[in-house]
Amino acid sequence: IKTYQNKKVLVLGLGMSGVNAARLLNKLGALVTVNDKQKFDDNKQAQALLADGIKVITGYHPVELLDENFEYMVKNPGIPYSNPMVQKAQSLGIPIITEPELAYQVSQSHWIATTGSNGKTTTTTLIGLMLNEAGHKAYDAGNIGIPASAVAQKAGKDDTVVAELSSFQLCGIKTLHPHIAVLTNIYEAHLDWHGDREHYVAAKMRITMNQTPDDYFIMNWDLPEMHELAKQSKAQIVPFSRKNIAGARSALIDGWLCFDGERIMKADAMQIPGTHNIENALAAIAAAKLSGVDNASIVAVLTRFTGVKHRIQYVTTINDRKFYNDSKATNVEAASVAINAFTQPIVLLAGGLDRHLSMDDLIPLVKAHVHAMVTFGETAELMNAVAEKAGIPYQQTENVKTAVPLAYAASKPGDIVLLSPAAASWDQFPNFEIRGDVFIDAVNALAESEE
Ligand code: ADP
Repeated sequence: IKTYQNKKVLVLGLGMSGVNAARLLNKLGALVTVNDKQKFDDNKQAQALLADGIKVITGYHPVELLDENFEYMVKNPGIPYSNPMVQKAQSLGIPIITEPELAYQVSQSHWIATTGSNGKTTTTTLIGLMLNEAGHKAYDAGNIGIPASAVAQKAGKDDTVVAELSSFQLCGIKTLHPHIAVLTNIYEAHLDWHGDREHYVAAKMRITMNQTPDDYFIMNWDLPEMHELAKQSKAQIVPFSRKNIAGARSALIDGWLCFDGERIMKADAMQIPGTHNIENALAAIAAAKLSGVDNASIVAVLTRFTGVKHRIQYVTTINDRKFYNDSKATNVEAASVAINAFTQPIVLLAGGLDRHLSMDDLIPLVKAHVHAMVTFGETAELMNAVAEKAGIPYQQTENVKTAVPLAYAASKPGDIVLLSPAAASWDQFPNFEIRGDVFIDAVNALAESEE
């Protein structure tokens, strides 16, 4: 465990992770300065930091600040290394730490870390729930919305931090060493942020770079690439496989979720739908079993869990129509996963920010699974074209709220009514969470009026 007592630390970036890093360092007795180039005059969190005796400088990057003998810089993962403050810190040889690593360095707990292109939040949540169900205390953290710095001190030495780490967060780590690491999958969709594939894969593989043969690395054996990547890890490889590929320890066999050949439960007893969630469950089961969780606790969680909010989240049933909120599906790929997740006919609500991308990949899926669409937002017309090419009826409306009664009117008993917009929310909302909440409210209002 590293000590920051009396160390002079500059925290760069006043986002949620910066605020929590500053607070943590302050509690640890460090002398903390926070800097953000945005002005934060009436920011409550900045004021709270000031009240705690932390120096807060916002509105610009005072490069000369770095002449004040800082011993460490904690950088928000989103700030690029080309930032002038970061460049100067590097030229002065000041160690640059990212926020999850700071949390790791001062934490006494066991660490489980997850990464991957998709399924991170679901898998992280399932692992946390399973551990807690079995009476181990576990704290979810990281990319999931709770900075690791916020739980680093709460979690004791017998507790577990389950940290979801994005590629950005992994890029900055040097010492982070999880006892159990999980790589859910690697898909192409996220490449635009990372340049080339090699770079993207390398960032993900950093999750295992400090592991030793005493540790475990849970990998998706259905993806052939993983078999090669496994060779880079010093940890014990724990493969999971929905296709029961040879060597898998966590596997779907004859409809059963199994670990080391032992049947734990039937996959269709899970609440969360879709083959992708079977993969997430298999990854979570592996992490839970390796942590000593009993089967009954695993079964209890998987039969109860209705999904992470806004990710194919079950909302309610109205007159035999099941409503699902998948507001997180901000691209065609994610919407495709959702459409594929159901065996019942779907009424699809879709539309949002127009990034001038092709929606053509949706056409065969819509044709196969969707029998009516309600469209809205900037991409309404693009989605109308998808419906036309798929040969199904559609209606265009203003927004997700007005779409709910129209979708209900177009639905039949037994249907799934699914918000999976295939577009970002920013044409009409500050974020996908608010879009999802508006949908949930509209569904609940409809449920009341239909009672
Ligand atoms: P992440 O945290 O990696 O974004 P989530 O668990 O929040 O992943 O799921 C987000 C969306 O990604 C889901 O609604 C679903 O569309 C898709 N998804 C989730 N898990 C998987 C998986 N294992 N494989 C492929 N797609 C997935």
